[in-house]
Amino acid sequence: MRITDNISDLREMRQSMEGTFGLVPTMGALHAGHASLVSRARAECRHVGASIFVNPMQFGPGEDYANYPRNIEPDLSLLESLGVDVVWIPVAESMYPPGFQTSISVEELGAPLEGKCRPGHFRGVATVVAKLLNCFKPDRAYFGQKDGQQVAVLKRMVQDLNFPVEVVVCPTVREPDGLALSSRNAYLNIAERKAATVLYRALVSAKEKYEQGERNAEVLRTTIRSVVRSEPLAYEQYVSAADPETLCELQTVGKSVLLSLAVRIGKARLIDNILI
Ligand code: AMP
Repeated sequence: MRITDNISDLREMRQSMEGTFGLVPTMGALHAGHASLVSRARAECRHVGASIFVNPMQFGPGEDYANYPRNIEPDLSLLESLGVDVVWIPVAESMYPPGFQTSISVEELGAPLEGKCRPGHFRGVATVVAKLLNCFKPDRAYFGQKDGQQVAVLKRMVQDLNFPVEVVVCPTVREPDGLALSSRNAYLNIAERKAATVLYRALVSAKEKYEQGERNAEVLRTTIRSVVRSEPLAYEQYVSAADPETLCELQTVGKSVLLSLAVRIGKARLIDNILI
């Protein structure tokens, strides 16, 4: 496995690789969710690359950029064990050198939900992913359904800007009790970790309503809200039952719905979703 922090080295390595190339962008502090993306890329592509970059541009003032877990040695061991060929670990100063001033904004899809709670977040995500795609030139790029709005934003960007890449979306990997794996779960103490199962419990209870025939989206949102409110350590940020493509809130559920929520528990801000 080759490791570099340098763009020219990366481009040189990439040029020497023939055949399909799959990219897995990450912010590190890797867990089994990230590993599932890498394994899928490994199974589908001749070469696999990963990036580890805690992207300052996607964090707002007062968010957890400085404290975001960083775990580089175990991350590299994991990537090596999964058969990754090349890892790029850029430093912020080379990603955003003095004078940097170009960004990508996916206007409508980036506005609601996470975009509303975290202004500028998706501008940061879209810009850094565009740069990663330009540097790695992958045939396929792998992302998790865990970040459902991110997937919608990036698919739109790839289509709108004609990036010659296929966006592959991988299922959310969960703990046995349903909590979606996330690097931010490390912020939770024992009581908060227990409380954090409320996100998935809330989504599942709305899904059950849907399966019993409920198509009123407001009823589904209310179901999610009432489960979240039953957990004293959880503070709801938003609850959504939206069209998976436009992310507009639905009144009536048609053929599909993205149920999602963001909740604050202790120091952690957690998100989850299920696609029906
Ligand atoms: P991050 O390091 O949090 O930026 O995540 C890097 C990639 O891993 C993103 O595409 C995430 O959606 C994906 N990911 C994070 N957690 C999970 C999970 N529990 N299951 C599947 N994919 C995940």
